[in-house]
Amino acid sequence: MPEREEKTGNNSDLGMYLHVPFCSTTCDFCAFYQERPSKKGFDLFFNGLEKEVERFPANHSFSTVFIGGGTPGLLKVDQIKRLGDIINSQDLQEDAECSMEVAPSEITSKKLEAISEIGINRISLGVQTFDSGLMSELGRMHEVSKAVDAFQMIREIGFRSVNLDLIFGAPGQTLEQWENDMIRAIELQPDHLSTYCLTFEEDTALYVKMAKGKIPLDSEKEASFYEKAWDFLPRHGYKQYEISNFAKPGFACRHNLNTWRMNEWLGYGPSACSQYQGVRRKNLSNLEHWSTQLNDNLEIEYQEYQNLSKFELARDAVLFGLRLNEGVDLKILAKNFSLPLTAFDPVASFFLNLGKEGLCESKKGKVSLTPKGRILADAVAKDLPELSSVLIREKSTPEKQQAFG
Ligand code: SF4
Repeated sequence: MPEREEKTGNNSDLGMYLHVPFCSTTCDFCAFYQERPSKKGFDLFFNGLEKEVERFPANHSFSTVFIGGGTPGLLKVDQIKRLGDIINSQDLQEDAECSMEVAPSEITSKKLEAISEIGINRISLGVQTFDSGLMSELGRMHEVSKAVDAFQMIREIGFRSVNLDLIFGAPGQTLEQWENDMIRAIELQPDHLSTYCLTFEEDTALYVKMAKGKIPLDSEKEASFYEKAWDFLPRHGYKQYEISNFAKPGFACRHNLNTWRMNEWLGYGPSACSQYQGVRRKNLSNLEHWSTQLNDNLEIEYQEYQNLSKFELARDAVLFGLRLNEGVDLKILAKNFSLPLTAFDPVASFFLNLGKEGLCESKKGKVSLTPKGRILADAVAKDLPELSSVLIREKSTPEKQQAFG
């Protein structure tokens, strides 16, 4: 079979994110904004969404779409079609990657057919674990067999790409259980695997348990879970391209890559985030309030709103770029963000120090974290310096040239 062409995007890519804020129950680890499904809630959501895309259109075509949540898969067939009408009223590129998250417990073949008909070509299935004991630890509602059935239904419809989401680091989980989860996952042969370390976000049921001392935190164990995935999945045909993401050749998620590269995306729906034309903003995490201000054509109030300079954007591109296996090329970032290379001098010095500690390496002008550095990625991110806004032309030292490639 010829290798699939890798479409990893470029810096003119534009993503569309739609947040469907409904879940039947709340998982113990969940910190996403979601509401229980109701007729009133769906009316508020769809009416608001129609107004929001009309009021905030993009100025060029979308290269990716991602429908997340919440649980978009709980939408009924007629609601999926309505969502499709909203998406397809916008200018999408012909080869756009269009993803939708689905939960195993909510999906039927009729819904999958409707999802395919509206142009979704990539499904992300929230399996989390194939271990029924861990499943109940996570407060998930589906039976393990449902995940396998859902995967088979998805394959039967013939979506272009299928991702499985797995979580590790659940309370009491052993390394052996984690390896078994990965074995079960690759038996299904998805095109992409996202492996997330369970995090204890405030206001979640798991956080409360942890705060009461019922769940011990063990960072060494967490590191060994990461290392297990980094070793196991590439040996089975899934190339790692980001700390938590693995894909068969040609199946890296273009939507996420666009976000990590600090390009632009527009988010629609309550709590959705956008980064567009130098502004990063987050919609209100309140369905009723978000919808009312759109329907009544009021001035929009955001939960968060930040004007970003190109220095801040470029620094964030370094921060997220370091999480990618391809690494960061400071010369390319300088060009993409129209900044002089000298603006990156503090970052280049930072890289040199990381290199001395064995936390990053430079290959063909690209700097990436070593496995040891990836384990410490959060600490590295905290220490990443600001870019220099003093734009003086200084002579580069040989050491800095090495960091710039
Ligand atoms: S299905 Fe997803 S969004 Fe809904 S409660 Fe569970 S983790 Fe949160």
